[in-house]
Amino acid sequence: LNNLDIQAIRQSFPILKREVNGKPLIYLDNGATTQKPQAVIDAIIAYYTDMNSNVHRGVHYLSQISTDAFEVTRRKVQEFIHAAHDYEVIITKGTTDSINLVATCYGEAFVNEGDEIIISAMEHHSNIVPWQMLCEQKKAVLKVIPMNEAGELDMHAYQALLSSKTKMVAVNYVSNALGTINPIKEIIKLAHQQGAAVLVDAAQAVQHIKIDVQELDVDFLVFSGHKMYGPTGVGVLYGKESWLNQMPPYQGGGDMIKDVTFEKTTYNELPFKFEAGTPNIEAGITLNAAIDFINELGIENIKAYEDELLAYATEKLKEVDGLRMIGTAKEKSSVLSFVVDGTHPYDIGVILDKLGIAVRTGHHCAQPIMEQFEIPGTVRASLAVYNTKEEIDALVAGVKRAVAMLV
Ligand code: PMP
Repeated sequence: LNNLDIQAIRQSFPILKREVNGKPLIYLDNGATTQKPQAVIDAIIAYYTDMNSNVHRGVHYLSQISTDAFEVTRRKVQEFIHAAHDYEVIITKGTTDSINLVATCYGEAFVNEGDEIIISAMEHHSNIVPWQMLCEQKKAVLKVIPMNEAGELDMHAYQALLSSKTKMVAVNYVSNALGTINPIKEIIKLAHQQGAAVLVDAAQAVQHIKIDVQELDVDFLVFSGHKMYGPTGVGVLYGKESWLNQMPPYQGGGDMIKDVTFEKTTYNELPFKFEAGTPNIEAGITLNAAIDFINELGIENIKAYEDELLAYATEKLKEVDGLRMIGTAKEKSSVLSFVVDGTHPYDIGVILDKLGIAVRTGHHCAQPIMEQFEIPGTVRASLAVYNTKEEIDALVAGVKRAVAMLV
């Protein structure tokens, strides 16, 4: 069904050769962060070995090549998400940083007392709290799109929430806790009919699903490098030029200015207006290698393989007595979140760790979801392209063993 050579792909991830607790590592915590292929590790070493220098400042050779390499990444991101212009790609520290930027700067320009912001019931805390802070500051109102038992958004309720008061709709493309793929094209279309902007949190989407920001007609789209086989400390904010130009800068400092006097400062043009100070140069430059890695495999191939693995794991986990899958949406990506009767997720996680199997347990920075399902948290196995059916078999055997010990 798939045309990827998974064993060859695994070979390119050196960490997958290591053991944990005397067992071969089975890494199923990819929703938290993915492992890095050798090409990314090599690029990081090459940067510090050959190129290290500040960007956007120096006249000297090294500064020029590092500046050029940083801008190569920007254009690579532009192509990757099919943005109309490279200056619509702002390099940030990550998804959280990108969302805070939009909440602060869009909020400053466009949100006033009595206005409404819509988020969904399945957001990561980073797509809840910045909007709550904005609402508190501006006396605006936060509204939440509810979801059903399967973890799918209630689109009728969404339509009822939308009005001319709605200034922003901020939703994730894929839920990190449930795996639900949300109908964002429809969400965007409906928001635009009311004149509202839409921010899509693509932190769990960009490594699994082809994204075309122009086709989606999305206003803002954000993601993190470290969840897409890239380095930590770098992320992206895509924003439509028209919005970005109307927004005030986020932070003041070097690089974001044109002229500074003590009387008045004029701001730099896009994208630099939103990139104050020295960025994470190494991560900005080497994100390029991560996107190359994804492009070489082909994101459609990655998705097809991961879908196959997800279906296999979903079936296989049914063998575990008392296991309840949390998040059973029809459209789902790469996440298996579950609880088992009579056990606590943490205890299962500890036993799996002894077997060399890395999963995440807890509320996954999405406490409101856990509240809705009336559970303390889940065990979450989240997939990447290097995972295999054999690893899923080991997970299922490990969960069975844990349940036998705990119940
Ligand atoms: N949104 C979603 C859906 C996520 O999964 C995460 C990371 N778990 C974030 C936002 C935050 O990303 P970061 O911690 O890289 O800023």
